[in-house]
Amino acid sequence: MSIYARLKLKTIINAADSYTIIGGSLMPPEVVQAMSEASRHFVRIEELHNEIGARIAQFTRNEAAMITSGAAAGLAIATAACLTGMDADIAKRLPLPGHDRTEVIIHRCQRSGFDTAVRQAGAVLVEIGNDDATSDQELEQAINARTAAIIYLAGTRYERGALPLDKMIAAAGRHGIPVIVDAAAQLPPVDNLWAFTQAGAAMVIFSGGKTLRGPQSSGLIVGRKEWIAACRLNGSPNTAIGRPMKTGKEEMAGLLAAVERYVGLDHAAERARHERFTERICQHLNALGFEAAREYPGPTGQDYAQAKVGMGTTGLLAGEAKKGLEAADPVIMTGITGDGQALLINPLHLTEDELEVVLTEIERLL
Ligand SMILES: *Cc1c(COP(=O)(O)O)cnc(C)c1O
Repeated sequence: MSIYARLKLKTIINAADSYTIIGGSLMPPEVVQAMSEASRHFVRIEELHNEIGARIAQFTRNEAAMITSGAAAGLAIATAACLTGMDADIAKRLPLPGHDRTEVIIHRCQRSGFDTAVRQAGAVLVEIGNDDATSDQELEQAINARTAAIIYLAGTRYERGALPLDKMIAAAGRHGIPVIVDAAAQLPPVDNLWAFTQAGAAMVIFSGGKTLRGPQSSGLIVGRKEWIAACRLNGSPNTAIGRPMKTGKEEMAGLLAAVERYVGLDHAAERARHERFTERICQHLNALGFEAAREYPGPTGQDYAQAKVGMGTTGLLAGEAKKGLEAADPVIMTGITGDGQALLINPLHLTEDELEVVLTEIERLL
C-alpha cells in the first residue's frame, strides 16, 4: 500500500503545471537513486557544496552555482548576498545589516507573493513603474547610494509593463549594482540555465522542484563566482539568515542528478511529445463538441504547448468541469483561463496512460 493510501489521501493526476501546492514535480529514478545513495553516509556538507556547485556550474555553463532549499530560499539568500558581500559580521546581523544599503528595486508589475523572501533577508523593496509601463527615468531615479540590488522576474508573463532585462542590466552595470533574475519556472528552454548570466545577471534562480524534476524542496542559484561565494556565506550550514532554509545532502545529490539529466535530455523530443499530447487532447475533445486548441506559452511563459479547452457545444461550464475533474479519484488537476471560460490541460507532467484517464474523465462529465 502506498504512503498516500495509508494516509487515506487521494493522489493527483497533474494536468496543470509544476505547482508547489500539489507536490511540484515527480523525480525520475536517477534522482531518487542519487538521494538514496547520499542518505547512506555522512559527508562534510561544505565539501559537498563545493563539489556539487562546481559540477552544476559546469553543466549549466556558469562560473559558479549553489543549491538551496527552493527558488524562494534562493531569493532570500541572493538578496542577503547583496546586503553583506563577503562581510561575515554583517551576515551575522541580518535581517538588520547595520547599514542603509538595503534597497532592492523591483517592477511594480513583477510583485508577487515571493517578494516576502526578499524582505526576509532585510531588504526594503522600491517599486518602479505601474501595471502597464515603466520608464527609463523611473529606473534612474530609483537608483541611489542605498540600492543593494535589482530583482527581475524572467518570463513573458512578467514582462508586460516592465523594462527589458538587458536595459536593467545595463543601468545596474553603470552604477555597479548586481541584478538578480528570478527564473524559478523558466525551463524549458534549457538555454535559460545560462542565457541570463551570459546577458550579465549576477545571480539567476531556478526551482529544483519544477521542470528540472529534482527534489521538491530544492533550488538553484547560478552566477558570478564572487556572488555565489557571498550566497554561501549566508546559507546553511552557516548559522546565518539561510540556516532555517537548510539543504540536506540528499536534496543536494538529487538536484545534481536532476540537472545532469535535464541538460542531457533530447529537448526536441520532449517538445515533440508535448505537441503530440496536445494534438491528441484537441482531436479527442473537439470530436465531443468542445472547442480545444493549442495554446502557447505555458502558464508562466515557458515555450511548451498546452491545450486550451473551451466548452463549445457541450453545455458545460469550465469552472464546473474543473470541479468535476477534481472530484475524480485520482483527482485530476487542470488549469483554467483567467476569464474562467476554458480549461487549460498541460501535458508537461502527464504519462501516456494518465492522458487517457484525463480524456475519459472529461468525457464522463458530459
Ligand atoms: C515557483 C516560483 C518561486 C518559488 O519556487 P520554490 O522552488 O517553490 O521555492 C519563486 N518565484 C517564481 C517566479 C516562481 O514561479
